[in-house]
Amino acid sequence: MTLQKKLEAADKSFRNWRAVPFVQKQKLLLKLAKTLDKNKKSYAENITKEMKKPISQSIAEVEKCALMTRYYANAKNVLAPEKIETEFRVSEIHYAPLGVVLGVMPWNFPFWQVLRFAVPAILAGNAVVLKHASICFGSGKLIEKLFLDAGFPKGVFQNLEIGHSEVKTVLENPIVRAVSLTGSEKAGAEVASIAGKNIKKSLLELGGSDAFIILDDADLKKAAKSAAKARLQNCGQACNAGKRFIIQKNVLKEFLPIFIKEYQKYVPADPMEKDTKLTGMARPDLADELEKQYKKSLKNGAEVILPLERISDYEFNPGLMMVKKGNPVLQEELFGPLGIVMVAKNDVEALELANDIPFGLGNSVWTKDKKRQQFFIENLESGTVSLNKETSSDPRLPFGGAKSSGYGTELSLIALKEFVTAKTIVGH
Ligand code: NDP
Repeated sequence: MTLQKKLEAADKSFRNWRAVPFVQKQKLLLKLAKTLDKNKKSYAENITKEMKKPISQSIAEVEKCALMTRYYANAKNVLAPEKIETEFRVSEIHYAPLGVVLGVMPWNFPFWQVLRFAVPAILAGNAVVLKHASICFGSGKLIEKLFLDAGFPKGVFQNLEIGHSEVKTVLENPIVRAVSLTGSEKAGAEVASIAGKNIKKSLLELGGSDAFIILDDADLKKAAKSAAKARLQNCGQACNAGKRFIIQKNVLKEFLPIFIKEYQKYVPADPMEKDTKLTGMARPDLADELEKQYKKSLKNGAEVILPLERISDYEFNPGLMMVKKGNPVLQEELFGPLGIVMVAKNDVEALELANDIPFGLGNSVWTKDKKRQQFFIENLESGTVSLNKETSSDPRLPFGGAKSSGYGTELSLIALKEFVTAKTIVGH
């Protein structure tokens, strides 16, 4: 089928799909969750084959997709018409789906990123077309089949299998009404500007360089374990991972050795082995880029705590470096197994360091003191603030960024209202 024919099929399918009752759509989502459960192993193997993450993490990714799908399958219908008291006989808000929505998705969580966007968009009555990352076309195909196997009408979810140069043509097509992109700032800015020029809605979920703040009353053992996991799961390739470990000066000596010990438990190994915690990066060019950033950081005064050692095209022994304010690496995202340690004398300085970057996705702060927690809750510039835990998304809670990390909300009931028009019905 040509691209134009696929978009026409999506449009046709949307016109029927929008009229299907919400509860009916939810029944299909339950089937989708069951299909995810049933095929968990084969989906996970495909993910690991495509982008090399440890098989246990691929399985966890598919399980989380099923959990999220069940959340929406049982969610309250916040899109039902709402009556508003006015002087008119009728005054109501109706939520009308936008139509065909394009998803431009990355390779780091090949199932999760796609379904996190597509499930609420489709439940709201839209149809979805997917441009997956070039190394994840296999996942794109499997997800299209997943929707069909669960009983969704043909055309509600379609995989386009196109290169990124074709995104412009698709987004400019009058059939496509909006776009959701997860990926780099560069791709996000380009795609959002095409959307803007064509007066189409965009949602962006971009990079991050989140702080993981350890204050002097924190449970240091727990924090160290969580910090290593935050930085190194998915081989460091997660937008909301803790990337800068800001440690209060008076606990640095005690914390650092425990942190290093936890960090060194992550050793690259066979991705298909169930006990493997760390593997290679998804593409050699991404590993090249990380190495370049490492060398540049050192040139600009960063000190090595653990060297970042390249052991193959894809693999590293994870690195850790002490970085001071002013190092240009702080303006960038490190998307791989390389962490930054910074020292702060008190809460105010920790906050300043945490906020002094272009991004703001999911900061984490470790203190038992509720007053200190409150200070960070109110002042950290990020979409999420995690307390005494690493940041990880939860289907029940909103997920999105502040500053250059993007705009728009994924997950929770709020996501159901991202790709709809709030339509006013008013009169006598
Ligand atoms: P990209 O942002 O380039 O890729 C993400 C998606 O966007 C892919 O589907 C890609 O397609 C597409 N894309 C890329 N450029 C354009 C464009 N100009 N117009 C339309 N679509 C485009 O990420 P990379 O894979 O190159 O990774 C680079 C960096 O991006 C990482 O190091 C990391 O910092 C960040 N990133 C952040 C992610 C997150 O979760 N927020 C996820 C992935 C990356 P194609 O594959 O065909 O190029």
